[in-house]
Amino acid sequence: MRPKEPTEKSMERMWKFSRKYAEKSGTYFHPGEGVTESVVKGLASNMDELKRPLCPCRFYPDKTEEIKHRTWICACEDMKIYKYCHCLLFTNAEGMPITEYLPEGHEGLTTYGVVKDPHPDKGRESADKAEAREIERKKRPS
Ligand code: SF4
Repeated sequence: MRPKEPTEKSMERMWKFSRKYAEKSGTYFHPGEGVTESVVKGLASNMDELKRPLCPCRFYPDKTEEIKHRTWICACEDMKIYKYCHCLLFTNAEGMPITEYLPEGHEGLTTYGVVKDPHPDKGRESADKAEAREIERKKRPS
């Protein structure tokens, strides 16, 4: 069975959010065709199903349980703290995720190496929570 298409209302809402957040965080949409749309679609589907924009690029044993935490609600903690979007919704102009602020051992750094932030003056609104996030990350699967 094909997954249900998200509603137009949620798609519009998630496009609007994504454009605004990219602007606010000094990031770009991926230049590859369809990359951004597929993530927006995933967010919109979660909006329809859960009433929250849960990150669509992860597996959750229990989505209802997951939305009780802020961790993977878009923009997720990795994005707000480290400016890292593993879904590639918010990237640099070349479509690479920004990794320069990630802590050692984070999967983003291991996968992509160091990718510099094109606009260090923008985003990372929760940078002060990095230490607490690191303790939490070591307890939960990243
Ligand atoms: S990784 Fe974070 S910022 Fe990127 S789409 Fe998922 S929740 Fe949003």
